[in-house]
Amino acid sequence: MIKLHDKYFKKFITEAEIQEAVARMASEVANDLKDEEPIFIGILNGVFMFFSDFMKAYPFPCEMSFMKLSSYHGTTSTGEIKELIGLSQNIEGRTVVVLEDIIDTGNTLEELHNIFKAKKVKQFKIGTLFFKPEAYTKQYNIDYIGIEISNKFIVGYGLDYDELGRNLPEVYQLHTHNMINLILFGKPGAGKGTQANFLKEKYNLVHISTGDVFRYNIKNGTELGLLAKSYMDQGDLVPDEVTINMLQAEVEKNPEAQGFIFDGFPRTTAQSEALDNFLTSKDMTISATIALEADDEILIQRLLERGKESGRVDDQDESKIRNRFEEYNQKTAPLIDYYKAQNKFYSVNGIGTIEEITVRLSDVIDQL
Ligand code: AMP
Repeated sequence: MIKLHDKYFKKFITEAEIQEAVARMASEVANDLKDEEPIFIGILNGVFMFFSDFMKAYPFPCEMSFMKLSSYHGTTSTGEIKELIGLSQNIEGRTVVVLEDIIDTGNTLEELHNIFKAKKVKQFKIGTLFFKPEAYTKQYNIDYIGIEISNKFIVGYGLDYDELGRNLPEVYQLHTHNMINLILFGKPGAGKGTQANFLKEKYNLVHISTGDVFRYNIKNGTELGLLAKSYMDQGDLVPDEVTINMLQAEVEKNPEAQGFIFDGFPRTTAQSEALDNFLTSKDMTISATIALEADDEILIQRLLERGKESGRVDDQDESKIRNRFEEYNQKTAPLIDYYKAQNKFYSVNGIGTIEEITVRLSDVIDQL
């Protein structure tokens, strides 16, 4: 992740992918024009890196020149474009290959067609390193295309965001900030896991339950599982360092996520501070912490019932359940103030049907 002006960008196309596309384009053009002596015309500024690498890969005699086009002030919406720096040489009767860094709407391309029609060239070809088919509104044929991309804002390899980023050897895309990252909060048995399963579908989020990850590791006999088991069986919390590292690894596994539901994490102040620092480093943030509230005696009945079906050791013994509540009261309950101080704490009645509670949670999320 890099920051240019006020925005964050994440890696999108590697240097190797770009170089491969450039080399392919150069050999396609060389193959078509081997009997010609073409003039390559680069459209500045964005084309400078592509143009340079392309020319190094072009094997036959050729000439080169540059043009700079710019939108009229105040008419960007109409897409009107004018020629700023024109060509110095006479190109009548010549084979011209215009190189562009990117074609999106095709407005510039249309203008280029008009300009070159008037110049009576022998043949006019157009090559672009990047092409956005979804944004393209014109009918002109594009003779050579390097890489097709979806309609994303990109920078690097000559392309800029308000003049920054042109020097990057790879291409980055804008990192959008519309992630929803939720913490489902509440005592064991409050229904966090059940509700997370509905919310993750509804809002397209990745659900991370630290309890589930530990149980998965225990089942598979991993080192992490062995370490966690003794604590979990007693209803004690697993040490922070272990849990925090595990949580971070789970987030890292999902770089494309639209957002996360954290279920059973954080459970201590150290965990919430670590989570905040970690998310900040990834330009992410918690959107809301939503607590599911229910009475202890109801929760104990729910957990004992669940223990009969699931076989979970920590759900079968009332003293272990009470120990988990004790851990919650001492170590986890203070987080309510931590998130209240950030204006991110919401509380929802956790008693009712599953559907009713999903509606209550959705009401909070939809307001965010
Ligand atoms: P859960 O499935 O969320 O009820 O978690 C079951 C058990 O896993 C807890 O009682 C802890 O022993 C352990 N565990 C889960 N999440 C955490 C966490 N964030 N910190 C420490 N221990 C945890």
